[in-house]
Amino acid sequence: MRHSLSVVILLLFASTSEAQTARRSVALTFDDLPKAIDSGNVIETRHTTSEILAALKRHRAPAIGFVNERQLHVPGEMDARVAVLQQWVQAGFVLGNHTFSHPDLQTTPLSQYEDDVIHGEVITRRLMRNAGPYQLYFRHPFTHTGPTREVRTAFEEFLKTRGYKIAPFTIENSDYIFNKLYLDARKANDRPLLRRIRVAYLDHNDAVFGFIEGLSREMFGREIIQILLIHANDINADCMDEILKRMEARGYAFTTLDRALEDKAYETRDDFVGRMGPSWLHRWTVSLGLKMKLDQEPDPPKWVMEMFQKSLAPR
Ligand SMILES: [Zn+2]
Repeated sequence: MRHSLSVVILLLFASTSEAQTARRSVALTFDDLPKAIDSGNVIETRHTTSEILAALKRHRAPAIGFVNERQLHVPGEMDARVAVLQQWVQAGFVLGNHTFSHPDLQTTPLSQYEDDVIHGEVITRRLMRNAGPYQLYFRHPFTHTGPTREVRTAFEEFLKTRGYKIAPFTIENSDYIFNKLYLDARKANDRPLLRRIRVAYLDHNDAVFGFIEGLSREMFGREIIQILLIHANDINADCMDEILKRMEARGYAFTTLDRALEDKAYETRDDFVGRMGPSWLHRWTVSLGLKMKLDQEPDPPKWVMEMFQKSLAPR
């Protein structure tokens, strides 16, 4: 009896000390609010939001959500859709600008793109008005930061004059690929496939975290505060609790984007210009004179990629 009691006490100590000494830190950022791949049914959008926010609250994880205000302009649903965004603000989270209509800076004339940014902050700024002073953040759609150095510099100047900081990211987990398959499987009511996709998604998330942690140690001799880019979508609504648990199991504590950007690593110059929108860790290799290892980043499993390609093919 005494023996088992001491084991319990030991276990208790072990678990509290682990919680107190998180070795790693990550900021969570959600794109395409109110919802990525919106079914058009605002009740579902509200449900997705509630699930994500409930999981964040359970894990005391702060977050920032990047809004596409075009999604709010649905006839007869505008109030209900604005109320969904209001849920984020009420939960104490920050809303950022992800443009009005999600254009691609790679293919959109700069003046038109800048208009879209201005158009994209009207409701969000109003919702945040009573939330106290906060840093304005901008996240580029597709994380495309400009087709040329000139466009990039001009746009960054525009952002600065409007008070925006760019929201970088270091980790993304291809959630939009898994989400597409997840929605298809749900429509087909294929429960075994839903489970399989979910497990593959969680495992892939671990794989990209492992890769980025290693890259971070290689580049900076330590693990920097990471910034995760995911979407406000169905698979994350269903998996958020598990995703956060897995991060905690890796030793992560959750922090704000403001705090993450205080990490000196984010002062590294980003000289990347290109067609892709990779992790800032990959971008920094340009100014640090290192070899880019984008091709070594883990892909989702082959069956997932094949199923995704097939799902996009015209029928
Ligand atoms: Zn987006």
